[in-house]
Amino acid sequence: MKINPDKCVACGNCTYVCPVGAIYIDPQLHRATINRDECVECYTCFNGLSQEHLNPTFVRTVRRIFQTLRLRFDPEPDVCPTAAFEPDELVWPRTVRRAFSDPRVPHESTGVHGRGTEEVKTNDISGRVGIGEVGFTIEFGRPGVGVWFRDLQTMCTALARAGVAFEKRNPVTSLMTDVSTGAIREDILHEKVLSAIIEIKVPVERAEEIIRLVWDVEKQIDTVVALGVGARCDASGEENVVAPILEKLGYHPQRAKTNIGLGRVSA
Ligand code: SF4
Ligand code: SF4
Repeated sequence: MKINPDKCVACGNCTYVCPVGAIYIDPQLHRATINRDECVECYTCFNGLSQEHLNPTFVRTVRRIFQTLRLRFDPEPDVCPTAAFEPDELVWPRTVRRAFSDPRVPHESTGVHGRGTEEVKTNDISGRVGIGEVGFTIEFGRPGVGVWFRDLQTMCTALARAGVAFEKRNPVTSLMTDVSTGAIREDILHEKVLSAIIEIKVPVERAEEIIRLVWDVEKQIDTVVALGVGARCDASGEENVVAPILEKLGYHPQRAKTNIGLGRVSA
């Protein structure tokens, strides 16, 4: 994403909508500017603000006149008054940023929008997590922090060393060069995305070990990690196998999602 400095009138509206704080008003240029390293190409600024097409010179002049009268002219807060945003023609590897950050864009590896995974939400029809197994969704970067692929790789290699298999229908897995080591394509390691999810499943007996491993690796990387746990209920609709493990580790598990009959049984 780019901001056209000839159009920007430095109203500052866009600085509040960027989820990773990549937009700032440059004190020298007196224009809104995007930090390209931090921008995850989510298009929130472009799609989230209404674009008005006021003449930039006119807006600047009005603001200057108002200033001399000790008044202030500001556009509505959800508007870019001069339509200053100009999306770049993205090329690889930067396209990966958008694929993981803009929920309007389907991920080519799964056809699912945004981070591109259904994870365990559809387990009742997909059967990803079986009886006696626990599924983990290890989510990085939310809210408003983002994650670099190099940090995802740190977690993936640690999990691979522990002998954990990665979910095949997952966008992070699709970007690995070697699923047995957890290595991710080198050309995207320095790309940043809004969020990403690693999906794994292990026998219930390994749940504590894997949670402790995630805790350890989390300390080595510079982002936010949220751990989701998927388990199957028993015949009476209860879950009394994984929940006690989580309680022992200090969690107070709440049932977050129960999805029933969301489609055709495929597994
Ligand atoms: S909303 Fe538009 S005019 Fe206002 S600072 Fe951002 S880019 Fe510039
Ligand atoms: S595309 Fe997203 S990350 Fe980039 S500047 Fe706009 S809002 Fe921020």
